[in-house]
Amino acid sequence: MAKVYYEKDTDREVLRGKTVAVVGYGSQGHAQAQNLRDSGIQVVIGLRRGRSWEQAKRDGFDVRTVDEAVKQADVVQLLMPDEVQGKVYNEQVAPHLKPGSALFFSHGFNIHFGQIKPPADVDVVLVAPKGPGHLVRRVFEEGFGVPGLIAVHQDASGKAKQLGLAYAAGIGATRAGVIETTFKEETETDLFGEQAVLCGGVSELVKHGFETLTEAGYQPEVAYFECLHELKLIVDLMYEGGLAGMRYSISDTAEYGDYVSGKRVVGDASREGMKQVLAEIQNGTFAKRWIEENEEGRKQFTRMRETEADHPLEEVGRRLRKTMAWINEEKKGQSTENVP
Ligand code: NDP
Ligand code: MG
Ligand code: MG
Repeated sequence: MAKVYYEKDTDREVLRGKTVAVVGYGSQGHAQAQNLRDSGIQVVIGLRRGRSWEQAKRDGFDVRTVDEAVKQADVVQLLMPDEVQGKVYNEQVAPHLKPGSALFFSHGFNIHFGQIKPPADVDVVLVAPKGPGHLVRRVFEEGFGVPGLIAVHQDASGKAKQLGLAYAAGIGATRAGVIETTFKEETETDLFGEQAVLCGGVSELVKHGFETLTEAGYQPEVAYFECLHELKLIVDLMYEGGLAGMRYSISDTAEYGDYVSGKRVVGDASREGMKQVLAEIQNGTFAKRWIEENEEGRKQFTRMRETEADHPLEEVGRRLRKTMAWINEEKKGQSTENVP
């Protein structure tokens, strides 16, 4: 059984009087920084003079260049995109890390794949909320928390885990539960989940469904609602009650169709594909490719992003969503650039 930590397992005193530098103020950065501040923890934001510098200032933070923020920090949480962390760490973080301080991550990629090699005298800890940044903030404001993962890669102080738990409490994660893991497990399962199921798998499923219906002559608007829009309603039911909870709410006709047809669509070929995807994550092939792609200026990545945005499903969706007042309202409240 996995070890799960809650409020009662944490000692918030561990962070008292300490300064946390949150480096990066994007999806996770703005959420974690604001939650920590509301929890009474001293926060400084480390940034370049880019887009989010002014935003962090407007939100009332002490904003510094990365090296200046790191110099005064006892805990440094790296919340820039994974693909830039290695370079920024080597040039602006490592030379200024206080001995005895702690280096924190929300994803294990750079440690696990050897892009960042911290000195022996700092704690290296992962505190990863299992949810997008804007939810980490919204759910905290509602008095709850997004669940998280904790892992210790290096325990120089002998108190790395307690420090990690105090941080997890500060961002609200211990209200929901924080599962103990390793950098390896977090990195590999996170990459697998987003590639095979949550992002890659679901996107292809939605597109194939939409294409099958429109190619058969059905109206794209109807296909959009059936294959994309309704997905949220179904996922909400799964989130609340698992697959059985979802199946309890749908009609018996839908449930029968689920049992007899689901396996024909996502069958042995998908299982085989998933195994290959996992193997390439485990043996480092995926990481190598993504690191090289960034070094070469992201040409392929940019091309794929443009092709996907041009899909007929997206054109129909953009048009239909304009009339969905509730979605537009919700988006107005979100400040991060990750929301299209
Ligand atoms: P974002 O893409 O939202 O980070 C953008 C921020 O990083 C901006 O403030 C940006 O500043 C800053 N930044 C970019 N490049 C630099 C640079 N060279 N120097 C200084 N600052 C820079 O990242 P995420 O929040 O998505 O991800 C952060 C970490 O959290 C990653 O490790 C990710 O894997 C992990 N994570 C993310 C989740 C999510 O919800 N997105 C979920 C769980 C974990 P500027 O405005 O100047 O560009
Ligand atoms: Mg991820
Ligand atoms: Mg239906």
